[in-house]
Amino acid sequence: MSTPTLEAPAPSALDDARAQLATATELLGYDEGLHAMLATPRRELTVAVPLRADDGEVHLFAGYRVQHNVSRGPAKGGLRYSPHVTLDEVRALAMWMTWKCALLDVPYGGAKGGVNIDPRCHSAGELERVTRRYTSEILPIIGPERDIPAPDVGTDERTMAWMMDTYSVNSGYTVPGIVTGKPISLGGSQGRASATSRGVVHIALAALRSRGIRIDGATAAVQGFGKVGRDTARFLAEAGVQVVGVSDQYGAVTATSGLDVEALSDHVDRTGSVVGFPGADALDRDLLLELPVQLLVPAALEGVLHEGNAARVTAPVIVEGANGPTTGAADRVFAEQGQLVVPDILANAGGVLVSYFEWVQANQAYWWDAQEVEAKLESRMLAAWDAVAGTAQARDLSLRTAATVLAVERVAEAHRLRGLYP
Ligand code: GLU
Repeated sequence: MSTPTLEAPAPSALDDARAQLATATELLGYDEGLHAMLATPRRELTVAVPLRADDGEVHLFAGYRVQHNVSRGPAKGGLRYSPHVTLDEVRALAMWMTWKCALLDVPYGGAKGGVNIDPRCHSAGELERVTRRYTSEILPIIGPERDIPAPDVGTDERTMAWMMDTYSVNSGYTVPGIVTGKPISLGGSQGRASATSRGVVHIALAALRSRGIRIDGATAAVQGFGKVGRDTARFLAEAGVQVVGVSDQYGAVTATSGLDVEALSDHVDRTGSVVGFPGADALDRDLLLELPVQLLVPAALEGVLHEGNAARVTAPVIVEGANGPTTGAADRVFAEQGQLVVPDILANAGGVLVSYFEWVQANQAYWWDAQEVEAKLESRMLAAWDAVAGTAQARDLSLRTAATVLAVERVAEAHRLRGLYP
């Protein structure tokens, strides 16, 4: 007979998201009714996604779309393909999207989607069939005025092209505003593919400066070398920061004098991993987070900075490229240790910001050049940094709490002005 465990389950992303909201609503003095409304998704859809595999067998996956809030505009947020996707994870990610959009003042609510499939184990044909079936199942609740998906972990511009096509075929005409993060030739925006990383680096440089750290020669470690981490490392190096370590799901590499990020990128294109990169030392994947650097950018998944390793993380500035990489327990340790944590809803908001630009361009069928996109991205990211850093200082709050308070206030204001129906 197995012994029942008395340990409480590990706190989840949803617990962390709810705790952050509770802190903000308490500071704002909101009543329980308003808090409950902000804590609860407006609409959730769970769908079964059957796939006829290449060998003829049928597999079934669970798909979700959660619309957390639509008070400020259509729901907006990515679609994740990962074997770890759960409804609770999607709920947490959808809530963070609401705050992110409000903080950057883009006219959207928040949403997230997920399918519990490991995209690495499937052919392009299988992924296309899963995407088209999932899109068909969630068709009744998405649309350019309702809910606009985008890429997230495990999905990319090809996924968005299939979603756009499936929605358009069912509508009988092309609807480019249904998704963002599309290929440029299908109405995607210049600068969207690297927008999250660009935003992370604008914020990271502002955060380093705020701590009196010189950019030229500052040291950094980037955890994750995917959609966000790879370009983050590249843009940091271009800004003069020494990227001394990077990791991916297979391992990590480090070089005290700074990695050649371009050469590392070529190595990853050739081999599929950072592991084995010549001219760097191998490092345990988890120890990357503990390198003695001035800037740490977790740019992969939730919960990687936790109770078990936070005390050993020494970087004075931590900038969240991923969604939810720091648990509540780790946040408390970092506050005690005097480290500056720039929260995801600010640091990685460049992606949804350029998604908004893409949607505006698609709806007007008028396209901006790369310089225009990048100038608007930079000025809006830095304005959000100033607002969050100013609020944190004026009210003696952490950056996370300040950002959440600012965002929640905007959502609650929209809700109050619209009133409760009926
Ligand atoms: N998945 C990205 C995020 O978490 C982008 C979402 C979007 O562009 O809608 O912010």
